[in-house]
Amino acid sequence: MNPEQIAQIEAAVTQILTAVGEDPQRAGLIETPQRVARMYQEIFSGLTTDFDDFKLFDAGSAGEMVVVKDIHFYSMCEHHLLPFFGKVHIAYIPSENKVLGLSKLPRLVEYCAKRPSVQENLTRQIAELIAEHVPVSGVAVSIEAKHLCMEMRGVRSPDSKTKTFFYLGAFKEDQEWKRDFLAAINHD
Ligand SMILES: [Zn+2]
Repeated sequence: MNPEQIAQIEAAVTQILTAVGEDPQRAGLIETPQRVARMYQEIFSGLTTDFDDFKLFDAGSAGEMVVVKDIHFYSMCEHHLLPFFGKVHIAYIPSENKVLGLSKLPRLVEYCAKRPSVQENLTRQIAELIAEHVPVSGVAVSIEAKHLCMEMRGVRSPDSKTKTFFYLGAFKEDQEWKRDFLAAINHD
């Protein structure tokens, strides 16, 4: 984010504090707009950076599923600007003996999560980015998350978890691959 964007966030936070009936000049709040602006810069960094770190390396695993489960993430619900967070499970089937470095998937998840989003779109975006940059015959992504907008407001449903799934290629077309993926992510 550039200095103008930071200044805009600070002014907007001051306005919101005033609008809700607070005094933005009182001691506890005086630095809040700057803090929030710095925080937004961090948690929305996916909007202002690019992720092109799809370094592939050779592995003799064409046709076999690669699964990385329990990737923790934090994102912000685009409807309420409140956090939703949980775990992402990813599987893909390399089609050309090329696989992603294992640390790339958590970084990709972080990049996608650091923007206002909804869980369904985050799930799809992760799958599509992998399919776009890695030679695969299928990608499966599942997210299980808790939404503060469901817990602290509205329906107030503190124990509910939302699960989403997105399948491409073999996982979409072949029930057996889908079953294998679900078995892998449900197994410890
Ligand atoms: Zn929400």
